[in-house]
This record gives sequence, C-alpha cells and structure tokens, in this order.
Amino acid sequence: MQLDDLYRRVIMDHYKNPRNRGTMNEESVTINLNNPTCGDRISLQLQVADGKVTDAKFSGEGCSISMSSASMMTEAVKGRSFDEALSMADRFSSLMKGEAVEFEELEDIEALSGVNKFPARIKCATLAWNALRKGIEHQHE
Ligand code: ZN
Repeated sequence: MQLDDLYRRVIMDHYKNPRNRGTMNEESVTINLNNPTCGDRISLQLQVADGKVTDAKFSGEGCSISMSSASMMTEAVKGRSFDEALSMADRFSSLMKGEAVEFEELEDIEALSGVNKFPARIKCATLAWNALRKGIEHQHE
C-alpha cells in the first residue's frame, strides 16, 4: 500500500504510540466490533455525561490503519458533544469516499484520506468510527 510519506508517518506514529489505549474501570459504554476481512478487533469504551463524550479509550488488535484510526478517533472525540462527534463520523465517511474534508479538531485524521484508494482497507479505517456511532446511538435508546 503506497501512501504519501507524510501521511504514512502520521499513521505510523498513532500506530506505534496509540493515544487513549487501555480500558476504563468507571461505568462506561463498551462497544466491540470486528472487521473480519482484515482480522481487526476493537473494543471501544466511552464515558458520557450531559450529551457529551467525556472520555474514550480503546483496546484490541489489528492492522496499522485500524489501530491508528482508533487512536485518532478517540483523541478527536473526547470532550465533544454527541452531535459534534457524529458530524466527525459523517465527515470521516466522506473522506473515505475521496471527498476533500477537513478535520479542524485533529488534522492527523486527514492522513487517512489516502485509504480511499484502497477499497479493501476502508473497513479498517472506519471500524473505530462505526463503534463510536454505535456507542452514541446506544445513548439515545
Ligand atoms: Zn485492517
């Protein structure tokens, strides 16, 4: 897979030094998702209060794309309202369709834009964001 050098460095940095990796003991929402086509597994934990994601952590294993995306996603959504977090998830879907999208919240996310050229890897990149969506939808039940 050939990605722009700068983008690849950002992705590898999140892969090797993941942000928010771990588990929470406090009461939290846990979402487990798999991407069987690649073997990625993620367990996302969200702490929520007053319509906001107050904290996010993830564990699991998988390829550099899935794990770096989880690192970026958790970093970007902490402290955001559900609406803001869902708007980011929507923008990430657009990014995966090859649309030019900006992430003022965390520019690192834009490093994954090249993944749209590799359809088999899109599910790797969206895994964490799908888990986020599930976690937030769970709050509305
Ligand atoms: Zn993967």
